[in-house]
Amino acid sequence: MVVCGKCCEEVSSAIQCSACRKFFDYQCSGITEIGYRKLGDRQLSWRCVYCKTSQQSTRPGSPPPETTRQPTLDSVMIELQKLSCQLLPLQEVINDIRIIKNDISDLRKSNNNMLEKLDSFEKRLQVVENAEQKISSLKEQINKMEAEINEKDQWLRSNNVEIKGVPFKPGENLFDIVTKLGSIITYPALKSNL
Ligand SMILES: [Zn+2]
Ligand SMILES: [Zn+2]
Repeated sequence: MVVCGKCCEEVSSAIQCSACRKFFDYQCSGITEIGYRKLGDRQLSWRCVYCKTSQQSTRPGSPPPETTRQPTLDSVMIELQKLSCQLLPLQEVINDIRIIKNDISDLRKSNNNMLEKLDSFEKRLQVVENAEQKISSLKEQINKMEAEINEKDQWLRSNNVEIKGVPFKPGENLFDIVTKLGSIITYPALKSNL
């Protein structure tokens, strides 16, 4: 398959110009298939309509007269056709640009969404961080209070007396024993103080 140099269509059977090396289908070449076959060896020097026109207007060997420099309507048409062939891919580019534009707009939307989400996450994180600070300050207070309670407990027990090694007798009265001990060491232990 080759692309026709005139109509830009992909064609399976085409002939090649010996000058510009472009391919043309028979419809665009300006010669019939039979006519082309009849050329025989001269097929190798066949030129397309564009090259024929430019050859006629330049006349190699001698400088062209002033009048032939004026572009003919045909050559203008041919140039226009060439240009339109060259512009064909532009439509594709325009379509691509349209698609890219849409993609960019979609991306922008999703980016905005992400930014909003990020914003809300940041706010929530701030709340969590504040709570963490509160928790750590509360922990400090609890530690202080525990230390104070411990100190007070120690202070409360500073006047406690622990008596060990007294054998247990059934039916004994602890208060009586303590009162007796108090009287022995001449330090009266009143029941109301125990
Ligand atoms: Zn063609
Ligand atoms: Zn040609």
